[in-house]
Amino acid sequence: MTTWSIINGKQHPADATYTVTNPASGEPIDSVGRSERTDVNAAVEAALAAGRLWSQKPVEDRSKTLVKLAEKIEDNCDRLAAIETEDCGKPLAQARNDAMVCASYFRFFGNAIMTYYGSQIPIDDSTLAYTKREPFGVVGSILAWNYPMQLLGRSVAAALATGNTCVVKPADETPRTAVEIALLAVEAGLPPGALNIVTGLGQGAGQAISEHPDITLMGFVGSPETGAKVATAAAKRLIPSVMELGGKSAHVVFSDANIEKAAAAITKGILQNAGQTCSAGSRVIVHASIEESLLEKLVKEFERMSTGPGEKGHDVGPLISMKQRDRVHSLVQAPHGGRVVIGGRFASGEGTTDGSFYEPTIIRGVDPKSQIAQEEVFGPVLVVTTFETKEEAIKLANDTEYALLGAVWTNDITTAHNAADQILAGQVFINSYGVGGGVGIPFGGWKKSGYGREKGIDALNEFTQSKSIIVAL
Ligand code: NAD
Repeated sequence: MTTWSIINGKQHPADATYTVTNPASGEPIDSVGRSERTDVNAAVEAALAAGRLWSQKPVEDRSKTLVKLAEKIEDNCDRLAAIETEDCGKPLAQARNDAMVCASYFRFFGNAIMTYYGSQIPIDDSTLAYTKREPFGVVGSILAWNYPMQLLGRSVAAALATGNTCVVKPADETPRTAVEIALLAVEAGLPPGALNIVTGLGQGAGQAISEHPDITLMGFVGSPETGAKVATAAAKRLIPSVMELGGKSAHVVFSDANIEKAAAAITKGILQNAGQTCSAGSRVIVHASIEESLLEKLVKEFERMSTGPGEKGHDVGPLISMKQRDRVHSLVQAPHGGRVVIGGRFASGEGTTDGSFYEPTIIRGVDPKSQIAQEEVFGPVLVVTTFETKEEAIKLANDTEYALLGAVWTNDITTAHNAADQILAGQVFINSYGVGGGVGIPFGGWKKSGYGREKGIDALNEFTQSKSIIVAL
C-alpha cells in the first residue's frame, strides 16, 4: 500500500512514488507519494480555505479540538510507535515516548490558547488602546527525520492553536506517522485542510513549500545548509521564518561535580536516538583533575548500552542510513589528536549485520579545533576535552559555530550561575540534561543553531503577529 499526502483531510495521490527503507534491516517498507509543486499548490489552497473557518472558531472550540487530538494520539501510541521504529530505527520505548510527547504538544497548546491574552495600554481617558495577537494565515513546515512525531507536534500545535492552518512536509525518510496523525486530526474535529501533510522530497515538495507565495510564515527543522536555502526563500518574500537547526552542545563538568549523576545524564543525552538529536550533548569539557574518574564512569555507562534493532528493545538503534553511518565513521577516523576509549567502529552484535549500526563511541583528548569537535556528527559519538580554569572552560564551550544547548555540572551555586550566564545557547541545564527540554520550555538556538522559538508560551508569540488598536472614546 502506498502512503499518500493528506490534503483537505483526504488521501491525495501524486504522479510518482519513492520507497522508504527500514534502517535496521535495509529492507524496503513502503512506497510514498512523491509530491511536487502542483500538489503543494493544492495543499495551500486547502489550508487557505480551512483557515477562514478555523481562525474564526471560538477559542474554546480550537482548544477542545487540539486536546481531543492529543487523546487520539495517546490512544494510538503503540501503533504510531511501531511505524516510527520501522521508519527511523529508534527503540520502541523511545518511539512510544515520542508519540506521548507529540500528544503533549497538542494538549499544552490547546490549553495554553485559553489564557493567551493581548494587553490594554494606558494613554488617557479619551483613548482606548489595546493589542491583539493574530494568526499569520498558512504556515509552512519542513521537518527532519530524527523525531518525526515530536517535531510535527512541536511545529503545528502552536500554529493551529493560534488560528493558523498548516502545510507540512515531513522528512523524506519518515513521512508515515505525520500522515496518520493528520487523519487522527480530522477524526478529532479539525476542519479538513487545516493540517495538510505533503509527502515528497526536499528539492520537490520542500522547495515548493518554501517558495509558495501564499505561505506567510515558514518553519524549518533540519540542517543549517538546507535551513539557509529555506530562510533565503522566505526572505525573498519578506516573510518571517523559524529555524531549528543543528547543535554541538557541551557539558562543562567542574571538579566538584557529582560525577555519577553527570555520567548517567551525559550518556543518555548522547546515546538517545543513537546520537541523532539536535540537542545531543556531544562534547564533554571536563576539569583535568577529574577526567579519569569521569571517563571511567562514562565507559561503564556506555558498556551497559546494547546496540541492535529498535523493535527488539535495544538501547541504541541504527543510524538513519548506511550513508550516515559511513559519515560518522569517517569523522571518527579523521585526524583529531585524541584516542578512542570505547567504540569507534560499526556495530557487529546480533541483528546488526544488515543495518546501519554504529558502536557507542568516546574519544578523549580531542583537539577542540578538530573536525569532530566542531561539526555535528549526528551519531553516538562523544568527544572529551579537558580544561584548567573556568575562563578556559567557557571559551571551549562557546567555541563552535553552534549554540543550541549547554550543561553545567558543579555543586557551587556561583560557578553554576556564572557559567550558565556565559554559555551561548537557547537552553542551559544545571546538574541535569534533558535533551530538548520540556514541552513548556522555550526551545531554539543562537548562532548557526537557528532562530525563533518553539515550545512554551514563547511559541504562541512566534506564530502570531501583534496588532494595536487605538479607539478615540
Ligand atoms: P535536512 O536539512 O537534510 O532535511 C530537513 C528537511 O528539509 C527534510 O524534510 C528535507 O526533505 C527538506 N529539504 C531538503 N532540501 C530542501 C530544499 N532545497 N528546500 C526545502 N526543503 C528541503 O536535515 P535532516 O538530515 O533531515 O535532519 C538532520 C538535521 O536536523 C541535523 O542538523 C539536526 O541537528 C537538525 N535538527 C534540528 C532540530 C532543532 O530543533 N534544532 C531538531 C531536529 C533536527
